[in-house]
Amino acid sequence: MEPAIFLDRDNTLIANRGDLGDAESVRLLDGAAEALSELREAGYRLVVVTNQGGVARGKFTEADVDAVHQRIAQLLDDEIHQPGLIERFYYCPYHPEGTVAEYRRDHPWRKPNPGMILQASRDMELDLEHSWVIGDQDRDIAAGRAAGCRTLLISTDRDAAHEANAAGAVDSLAGAVKVILRNGESEPIPATATARPVVAPPPPSPEAPESAPAAAEASKDTAREFNWDVDTPTPEPEPPPTDQPLADVRRAILELSDEVRSDRVRRSELTASKMTAGITQLLVVSCAFFGLLQLGDPESFETFVKWILGAALLQLVTITLLLLDPRG
Ligand SMILES: [Mg+2]
Repeated sequence: MEPAIFLDRDNTLIANRGDLGDAESVRLLDGAAEALSELREAGYRLVVVTNQGGVARGKFTEADVDAVHQRIAQLLDDEIHQPGLIERFYYCPYHPEGTVAEYRRDHPWRKPNPGMILQASRDMELDLEHSWVIGDQDRDIAAGRAAGCRTLLISTDRDAAHEANAAGAVDSLAGAVKVILRNGESEPIPATATARPVVAPPPPSPEAPESAPAAAEASKDTAREFNWDVDTPTPEPEPPPTDQPLADVRRAILELSDEVRSDRVRRSELTASKMTAGITQLLVVSCAFFGLLQLGDPESFETFVKWILGAALLQLVTITLLLLDPRG
């Protein structure tokens, strides 16, 4: 198993002052490409893990996120001439306060949860104990610690690193490389990766957060064993582990409410089939009405039969439309 560098995306790897859904607006931060190349040469596999709640807020789509990641990979390739520098991009499109119902929820992949890192370690057989997480937010550090990785906060504020429980603070990716190379113990990896980065799809439904307390405990051990060559703030005491039975009940309630909500939305949707069926049903009633009006005149019996046959035919159309309605 090889160690990895898990990189936050926005304001760690690229500049982003808000939601970024336009691939043409991607700008690599100064020195980012060289920093990643150095880490790769030092034997670390490179993975991006990024929250993209803009999808849940309807700012852009998953396809836009994918395009941004392809653009980042292209810019890195162009600058470093080393294809496949970043092996995979993992993103989480969910947000508990999103406006798009499909994405409105918390999720084990959403940092500070460690889901993306744990998934990557399974997918790529990574050594988390000797891996690092680099990011500019507390949630990046929390996710890294929960997954049992070493962590570096990009910040000029040393107090911020202390508050985030990061192992150290650096001012940029280049600064992070210096710390990692001083403290790391990875072996160089032959440059065999030539494939384009893979954008891993998010899982379709939430799962329970993965053994965060155990992973956090592993992180604590790692920090103790490690002889940091940085200004290392004293780690804060670990928060008490989550009450697992309560967490399970909470998750079950959330899933149930999601299911009820989506079912209610599904049932309330007015499809084209239902609308057409409504119109044909009105025509059925009208035909039957006009047919019955003919009953008063014995000479119009034939006309009566025609109206009733028309009504019956339209009723069949109505029933067929309702049966064929994809949403039932
Ligand atoms: Mg960030």
